[in-house]
Amino acid sequence: MVIYDAIVIGSGAAGSWAAKELTEGGLEVVLLEAGRAVDLPSGPPRPAGRAFRLWARMRGQHIQARCFAFAPHTQHLYVNDRQDVYTTPAGKPFTWIRGRQLGGRLHTWARHAPRISREGLLPSDDPADERRWPISYEELASYYDRVERTLGVFGRRDGIPESPDGEFLDPPPLTPFEEEFCRRVTAGSPTTHITPARNVQPHPARIPVPLAFATRTGRLRIETDSIARRILIDAETGKAKGVLVVDRNTKQERQVFGRLIVLGASAFESVRILLNSACPSYPAGIGGGAGVLGHFISDHLAHSAAASVSVGREPLLLPMSEPVDAYDWAPRLYIPDLWKRTAPPERFGRYGVQVSFARTRDTWLCNMSFRGEMMPRYENRLTIDPSRTDAWGIPVAHIDCTYSDGDLRLLQQMREAGNELAALAGMELADPKRENWFKSLALSIVKKQSLGVPPGSAIHENGGARMGNDPNRSVLNKNNQCWDCANVFVTDAACFPYAPFANPTLTIMALTVRTCDYILREYSPRPCDG
Ligand SMILES: Cc1cc2nc3c(=O)[nH]c(=O)nc-3n(C[C@H](O)[C@H](O)[C@H](O)COP(=O)(O)OP(=O)(O)OC[C@H]3O[C@@H](n4cnc5c(N)ncnc54)[C@H](O)[C@@H]3O)c2cc1C
Repeated sequence: MVIYDAIVIGSGAAGSWAAKELTEGGLEVVLLEAGRAVDLPSGPPRPAGRAFRLWARMRGQHIQARCFAFAPHTQHLYVNDRQDVYTTPAGKPFTWIRGRQLGGRLHTWARHAPRISREGLLPSDDPADERRWPISYEELASYYDRVERTLGVFGRRDGIPESPDGEFLDPPPLTPFEEEFCRRVTAGSPTTHITPARNVQPHPARIPVPLAFATRTGRLRIETDSIARRILIDAETGKAKGVLVVDRNTKQERQVFGRLIVLGASAFESVRILLNSACPSYPAGIGGGAGVLGHFISDHLAHSAAASVSVGREPLLLPMSEPVDAYDWAPRLYIPDLWKRTAPPERFGRYGVQVSFARTRDTWLCNMSFRGEMMPRYENRLTIDPSRTDAWGIPVAHIDCTYSDGDLRLLQQMREAGNELAALAGMELADPKRENWFKSLALSIVKKQSLGVPPGSAIHENGGARMGNDPNRSVLNKNNQCWDCANVFVTDAACFPYAPFANPTLTIMALTVRTCDYILREYSPRPCDG
């Protein structure tokens, strides 16, 4: 029987980095990935018209088809909602956008990778403040550096406190139109910071960079089509000894053994695995001892607004630079924490804005994508639905997550700020009747968002296995290690005690590197018996 040094579950932002760090640190690692081997997008980009979305819905992707980036050439990078089932209470929808393939959602993400600020990670002294992180910005900064240096992140060192500078590559130059947008906004609102978006450089091969590094060590075994059903516990020691795996194609079960387990299956999938691992040693699931496993789930608040300006005869409206490739949703500009500029009388939270541009024959289009923080609340919760299983017979997640009154007020402030930003830039909210793909994309978003989208729509779901300093109020300690099962680590966004407004993926990666450093430095696992 093979016993690996480490089992990594999932191969997206979290899992690919865990595989890289642990194999480079000398460990023999098996990576369990529920999806198939990497399947690159193919064919030219095509717009996701109404008929296509309707067709996708009928074929089982009724939830995934709501994603702004879901299109004919990318639909295979999203799950089938009939197979990968989850449930929600009546009247409380949650839009859970997922990808099951080697590399996870790193095939579809928009690559915008800002850091969380000092303030966002500031450990609070107030025990009742649920936003407390157990680590400070200073404790994470060097790990952000390492991730940025490895991936290559574009950025300009602007010294913006709400979005700290990193180890940046020079960003592509702004187009005259983008410069004019910045000039107009900052002329009308002088304290506004606009900076080139902090995007990870694109990789034409579209294989996650950390996986390529891990493979080179010769110490990584990748097992695709391998769905982790639950963690196996050694009844004598109470430690994890392996994972029960279901083959995606044959539905056969097998056991994989390892000395420690790093969960990176994406926030809610990792929580689901911990809960499904309930056994006599852990009746409430692994990490369930304190009664907070599954609680405090969250997303970012999402709002998008599309604005346009007629090209007219203005000489400054020159053609924009071409997007990097057909699968590129990356924004061009970033406005972290717009609040400081718009300051309504009461503040309900913070948000940042990613700005993208496209051009039709006679119009410039600007898509402003707002991402705001959602307050962590105990009552927002993921449990296991005892009445349903997925296509592989595994009990499914039941997601009960709603906005608080404060969240709804912040959403309203974000909407108002969208109008204000358009006005500062001299743009008008766009007319929804154009056929250009970017425009229909932006406008379909604005149409939906203005009605208010359910939680999950930001695709930044997080929480459920929060880190903390108090074992009675958290699932993981400050090293992402389960308080009650020391050889189980969770490094995806399940560990977030709360998600400040910055997009989460760079932080997921940095936390994973930090956890692996801890594993390699301090944790000496005891071999378990098979
Ligand atoms: C269209 C789109 C745009 C986005 N843009 C951005 C952006 O610009 N910036 C940003 O920060 N974030 C963005 N995101 C979010 C980003 O993709 C996620 O935050 C990130 O991928 C999360 O990484 P992860 O490793 O936790 O999960 P994932 O990337 O989802 O990877 C999880 C992996 O685990 C596997 N898995 C799941 N369950 C199991 C199981 N039981 N057993 C084995 N394997 C399992 C999955 O198949 C998957 O491969 C975007 C997402 C989408 C869809």
